Amino acid sequence: MTERLSSELEQRFRDVEENYKRICAELEKAALDSGRSPQEVTLLAATKTVPVEVINHGIALGIRHIGENRVQELCEKYDGYAPVDVQFIGHLQTNKVRQLIGRVSMIQSVDSVRLAQEISRQAEKAGTQMDILLEVNIGREENKSGVLPEALPELLEQAAVLPCVHVRGLMAIPPAEASREETIRFFSRMTQYFIDIKQKRIDNITMDYLSMGMSADFADAVRAGANLVRVGSALFGPRNYH
Ligand SMILES: *Cc1c(COP(=O)(O)O)cnc(C)c1O
Repeated sequence: MTERLSSELEQRFRDVEENYKRICAELEKAALDSGRSPQEVTLLAATKTVPVEVINHGIALGIRHIGENRVQELCEKYDGYAPVDVQFIGHLQTNKVRQLIGRVSMIQSVDSVRLAQEISRQAEKAGTQMDILLEVNIGREENKSGVLPEALPELLEQAAVLPCVHVRGLMAIPPAEASREETIRFFSRMTQYFIDIKQKRIDNITMDYLSMGMSADFADAVRAGANLVRVGSALFGPRNYH
């Protein structure tokens, strides 16, 4: 490694450390603001495009959960990760499910019965179970993943009877162009669904995680009820897709 590269990496390590401390402090404050203990809120680092050595520096600082978006990238980086909980947070095609079994603890982005069925089938073949979250298209955006809110009861019902998946909660990404006020309204609506479903006490469904909030809005999400936030660029800096 050239000296210039290694000093760039060292600078990046320092930035990640500073960012991590700031994010933890903001999360702690948001949890307390919403009457919860900071331990009830989980930070998941969104690691797409982030090199393994930078991710591992984050893990050394205390990051315990990471989320990848693409199956291929996850598989390429997987053996390099320091010990950490790995989750899948991106759009998932059924033909790639098999590669995630045994690698991730939870698939956050399930938005169809077909996908849930395939996860159950592959988990069963591997002799295991898979935790999933159901992704809701809360902003009713066209061409966006997630089920529409009115389709959620049926998806819950059908996922509940699958032998090898366990629905652990909900996930959502509000429209990128929404104002802060609109985004907070979307978060609050998600929290209402989360509470309503929890109260129904459906067999094989537990509402443990409400995954919402990213770099720009994770504190608002927590104040609105999220207990799992997915933070990428605020932690690792702007993404470089090359
Ligand atoms: C990239 C990504 C994030 C993190 O986005 P930032 O705005 O960089 O924090 C969170 N969730 C999902 C599903 C993502 O793809």
